[in-house]
Amino acid sequence: MADNFILLDSGYEQRQREKNRMLFRVIFIGFVFILIFLISLIVVSNSSSYVYPPKIKQNCSKDYNFDYYILALRWPVTECLSKDKCLKYNQEWLIHGLWPNRNDGTYPQNCCSDEKFDLKELIPIENQLKEDWPNLLKNHADDSLWRHEWTKHGTCSRTKPFQYFNTTLELYKKFTIDKWLKQENVIPSNDKTYSGDSIINVISKKIGFNIEIECENNKEYLSQINICVGKNFNVFDCQKEHKSSCNNQIIYPTNK
Ligand code: 5GP
Repeated sequence: MADNFILLDSGYEQRQREKNRMLFRVIFIGFVFILIFLISLIVVSNSSSYVYPPKIKQNCSKDYNFDYYILALRWPVTECLSKDKCLKYNQEWLIHGLWPNRNDGTYPQNCCSDEKFDLKELIPIENQLKEDWPNLLKNHADDSLWRHEWTKHGTCSRTKPFQYFNTTLELYKKFTIDKWLKQENVIPSNDKTYSGDSIINVISKKIGFNIEIECENNKEYLSQINICVGKNFNVFDCQKEHKSSCNNQIIYPTNK
């Protein structure tokens, strides 16, 4: 009887051991499967051929050639003439952009660059940018003009965004256009006209080099001053026709 009991008992134990072995095998195989699945997920998500959402390749130019920069300064009153699209602004000459340009009159634009516009990188100079290079348009973000200028022009300078924006701010500081024009009695007025040459002469004399001016609204209103700057950021004579977009007599308008 006791022997039978022992036999029964060892049979039960054997089955139990068999069951445990099976359970262990199932857990082990499951674990291996999960591991393989996780590893393949990591590999696939790191491979460039699988990106979701798919990367859209932007059209960009690899023709980075340019000879010099144009520092373009704009008169906000003209920009905002007849437009209720503008935010409040200070009536002073502001930065429009720093544009790589070629001697033949063409210019590179929208160049391929690994340097994407990132406002975080500009935090140390953000206040200065807001003051000297502001967005003027309603319903546009503070950084919208900077983003546009970097993408269209800055990318072709083959610099980094901080360097591009900081250099432009530093250059701008050298040209106190408002003060120079005022000193020579060229005052913003909606009743007076000035010859384009007189405006060019005042600024060119102060800088020591020829500049260009541009006009808008039927060539009547002074809109922009272009200063030509070499790749080493030294000013030199602009070679283009200096005022082809302006009438002989132009208005330097005021909003006051
Ligand atoms: P550009 O392409 O000649 O460097 O600059 C002209 C472009 O800048 C135009 O598309 C014009 O709409 C845009 N723009 C001009 N002023 C402003 C501005 O104050 N804010 C923004 N966001 N865009 C501007």
